[in-house]
Amino acid sequence: MSTIFSGSSYDFTAYTDAKNWIGGEWVDAQNSDTLDVINPRYGRSMGAAVMSGAEDVAMAVAAAKKALPEWRERPIRERGQVLYNLRQLMHTHIEELTWLVSHENGKTYGEAKAEVLKAIECAEYGCSLPNIAAAPQLEVSRGVECRIVYEPVGIVAGVTPFNFPLMVPLWMLPQALVGGNAFILKPSEQVPLSCIRLAELLQEAGLPDGIFNIINGGQESVEALCDSEDIDALAFVGSTRVAKIVYGRAAQTGKRVLCLGGAKNHLIVVPDADLELTAQNVTASYTGCAGQRCMAASVLVAVGDVDHIIDAVVEQSEQIKLGEDLGAIVNEASVERITRYINEAESQGAKILVDGRGGSLEEGYWVGPTLIDGVSPDMPAAKEEIFGPVLSIVRVNNLEEAIELENSSEYGNASAVYTTSGDVAREVMERVSAGMCGVNIGVPVPREPFGFGGWNDSKFGHGNITGWDGYRFWTRPRKISSKWAVQKDTNWMS
Ligand code: NAD
Repeated sequence: MSTIFSGSSYDFTAYTDAKNWIGGEWVDAQNSDTLDVINPRYGRSMGAAVMSGAEDVAMAVAAAKKALPEWRERPIRERGQVLYNLRQLMHTHIEELTWLVSHENGKTYGEAKAEVLKAIECAEYGCSLPNIAAAPQLEVSRGVECRIVYEPVGIVAGVTPFNFPLMVPLWMLPQALVGGNAFILKPSEQVPLSCIRLAELLQEAGLPDGIFNIINGGQESVEALCDSEDIDALAFVGSTRVAKIVYGRAAQTGKRVLCLGGAKNHLIVVPDADLELTAQNVTASYTGCAGQRCMAASVLVAVGDVDHIIDAVVEQSEQIKLGEDLGAIVNEASVERITRYINEAESQGAKILVDGRGGSLEEGYWVGPTLIDGVSPDMPAAKEEIFGPVLSIVRVNNLEEAIELENSSEYGNASAVYTTSGDVAREVMERVSAGMCGVNIGVPVPREPFGFGGWNDSKFGHGNITGWDGYRFWTRPRKISSKWAVQKDTNWMS
């Protein structure tokens, strides 16, 4: 069965229901509960997702168990071929995937295309693994060699958020699959549709049935994945609140866990910053993907007099057109949450320079770009994750205060500085408490092969989720020491 998505513009297009993908087939969940998948641009249902529980997870585990021995015995180069094929298929279907991401998530065509291209880049990292995963070997004593072999962990799982329906699953899959594991994905119940095509493309790419499975659902299905004694590793990407719960619960069964959480990213702007570059970059950072990305600018830390830059950000923000330059907000509850933060800051004395409240399109869920000036560090708009196109401006007197403010955040995903001074840039890069930092770059995503991951409450567990760290997370090193002859000298290893 192929379920090609027929949408090729923003026009509302219904799709199919998201069932579970187990052993290479779409199957219903054991209970009959479903959840509508809403196109946020219209507020209308494109299909429904089944809501799975422990029985469904057990079925996926059984399929994975059956398929795993043959897959893990294949040499890495053969497993890597599947990723080459997938990469090619994703390019062939790039328009379809782009529109599907845009429809189920609400982001613009351009943003959706960028997401698919980044997902392809992640697949490319998987293609490169057979060439870079050679492990070291050393003669550690006379006649004794020690070498490392990266073995699969076993049956592994990934839980992903709504804001990148295709890219975040691809943060996990290439390394996990080329590493020789069987994977169970639990996509966000708000955006489960892009993964329907991903499953089918992986099958077409030659992945054996049962090596990639999808369980659709919400909290109950995630809890079942955490509790399963048969699942050996689990990665999660989502909010900090849930990341903490999943990290604790999944570790109870002794599995390996890595959980990426939310963010509150600070952009520090100093007076010597380049006007054009800074204004353009700050605006793009806080409005891109309607602010619904963990790398979005959330606080502009204005050091001294940078009003000329803020004026330019205001001007550019006012030119942004809803629906064309700025996508929709994922659901009504998110619109209410974002609006609440803006109202609250205003009632606490902050000044709204650009007001996106109310949205202006007839259907769907919208908030326009919003700039709030005079936000004090203790206001919720300065401290909490808003996850919308809202930038809080906090004014400080000097760089020291700016760094102090950044360091007071409980999060530590991203941070950036805008300056033309190498000295200022170095000072900030050395002292901010964030895992992904930018100099004159407001969305400092470390592209492949650099691993993606923040610090503090933006990540629980060791290592990054992409790049080489990802391969290490989904594999375990076996250390083999060998000797083939009686040694001439004697030491403690003889
Ligand atoms: P979310 O935490 O609500 O949901 C993420 C996943 O967890 C979903 O699959 C959902 O079904 C599941 N889930 C929800 N509640 C659960 C519970 N109580 N127990 C177990 N599982 C549960 O996140 P979201 O709203 O889908 O995504 C937005 C959040 O993700 C933001 O906080 C954003 O910063 C974060 N995010 C972080 C990164 C990163 O790399 N650090 C990347 C993307 C998104």
